[in-house]
Amino acid sequence: MTDQATAPTDAPAGPRPEPDYEVIVIGAGVAGIYQIKRLTDLGVAATVLERDADLGGTWYQNRYPGARFDSESFTYGYSFSQELLDEWHWTEMFSPQPETLKYLNYVADKFDLRRYMQFGCTVEAMTFDEATDTWALDLADGRTLTCHHVITAIGVLSIPTLPQIDGMDTFDGPSFHPAEWPHDPPDLGGKRVAVIGTGATAIQLIPEVAKEAAQLTVFQRRPNWAAPLNNRPISDEEMAEIRQRYDDIFERCARSPGGFEHEPDRRGWDNVPREERLELWDRLYDGPGFGIWLQNFVEIFMDDDANAEFSDYIADRIRQRVDDPELAEKLIPTDHGFGIQRVPLETGYFETYNRDNVLLVDAAETPIERITPAGVLTADGTERTFDLIVYATGFDAFTGAFDRIDIQGTGGQKLRTKWVDGPVTYLGMTVHGFPNLLMLAGPQIAATNFPRACETAVDWATPLLQYCWERGHTRFEPTAEAEREWYDHVAAMYEPFLLRKAKSWITGYNGNLDGHEYGKMRYNIYNGGGPKYASILADVADDDYRGLTFS
Ligand code: NAP
Repeated sequence: MTDQATAPTDAPAGPRPEPDYEVIVIGAGVAGIYQIKRLTDLGVAATVLERDADLGGTWYQNRYPGARFDSESFTYGYSFSQELLDEWHWTEMFSPQPETLKYLNYVADKFDLRRYMQFGCTVEAMTFDEATDTWALDLADGRTLTCHHVITAIGVLSIPTLPQIDGMDTFDGPSFHPAEWPHDPPDLGGKRVAVIGTGATAIQLIPEVAKEAAQLTVFQRRPNWAAPLNNRPISDEEMAEIRQRYDDIFERCARSPGGFEHEPDRRGWDNVPREERLELWDRLYDGPGFGIWLQNFVEIFMDDDANAEFSDYIADRIRQRVDDPELAEKLIPTDHGFGIQRVPLETGYFETYNRDNVLLVDAAETPIERITPAGVLTADGTERTFDLIVYATGFDAFTGAFDRIDIQGTGGQKLRTKWVDGPVTYLGMTVHGFPNLLMLAGPQIAATNFPRACETAVDWATPLLQYCWERGHTRFEPTAEAEREWYDHVAAMYEPFLLRKAKSWITGYNGNLDGHEYGKMRYNIYNGGGPKYASILADVADDDYRGLTFS
């Protein structure tokens, strides 16, 4: 730690004006809720500014049919309160969105956190005042609020991106992104619906829409590997057993790279005969959640041959589920192997294409040319008519929510300028040139089961602030050198993994955003896994917050 005891030369003489808050948290989703709990437990003057009309973040926004956890529910809940763990009953292995939103509201109400939250507050700009070591936040409602510290909890996938297709504004019917599914849900009965995109969101949505709509047409540019979620209800008896097991569950999550109970198979690909590999895969395919991805042989994520063999296995499972062999081949990715991109989990996704009311349009073969008032025109001259179009076309991942705020640090530098070619952080939680700013779930944190990562971040951010308060530090900031070292480490941790080739948000690709072209790498996540990440954070804290300067 470098302790810069002297005040900045341009600091005004005399007492500093007190800011409105000691800490402002931006975002009342999973991370923001826990952060405000910890701050208010300490008696800190803090508030949460939330752009939505209510709390919940991702689970407030994503109300599309089929939206639910891909994490086992009992690994997704907060671990900080035994009382909460004892009280809450998850009804399904993978909780649907309405139940998750109910849970987050239950937590906020139980701990009386709502009174610290301000809804409908969009932060448009944030400027650091070097003379007073405070941030000034300009809100869309015209107010400016000041504070010593800002903690962002603004989500990693919270800015939906629409495609850039000519004529989108001419469509006669409703059209929206699933993250903006209307709160008054559209009646799909008897409707002709188009879904554009086949990512994790669409793969949850498509089977549900197919059940309701008269006709569903899916425009697929690239197929995605997907595997069964294998959801089921949780009985009262099972929930009682889960409650007994919570300590063990969270311990297992803490030692697995992905923050789940699923731990990788480390026996070694070559050491296990093929019949045994197949037995394992059959078991995982029929088992719950991300087991198929995270309990698999680690070599699958690093070695082309291992990955190809496993991808062939999954391709065969897809072929068994789709009646039309030609259609089955269209649903099997050929440009990347299984698990290189984030694996969507599905419930009856492939069987959906066996339905008479579902059509797959290969948008790579016949690209979408334009949206017309009646529907979608493809390059072969076919115009299909629709009542509703859903653009399930992804998110401006990780940096998108930061880019939407005009964040100005020291010396007038803007965060969006600093990050124009991709995020640069220290530990995924702080940024050089942007003092007193902490990011929960910012870029370059370990991409794990989300609440597990959030708790790690909040449990690091809070003691850091306490450290400052106890020592009278009004300012902290990472050094440029520490940031560079972290960046190099993050970049190095992409190298061993095949996911470095992913054409997805993992590498910063988004064809609908300028500057996010494939091959222009953005190191969005830390690939070293949850345990390694948590131990680095703990080590830095133990070492007097090595890499940060205080004044
Ligand atoms: P995504 O994975 O980025 O998928 C976007 C889809 O839209 C892709 O199929 C993409 O095709 C397609 N697309 C984009 N622009 C297009 C265009 N102009 N024309 C045609 N197709 C276009 O986005 P997502 O499905 O929303 O998922 C994002 C992430 O959210 C997931 O990876 C996951 O981490 C998270 N998520 C989590 C859950 C959960 O936990 N339960 C559920 C849903 C999502 P290309 O592949 O060709 O680009």
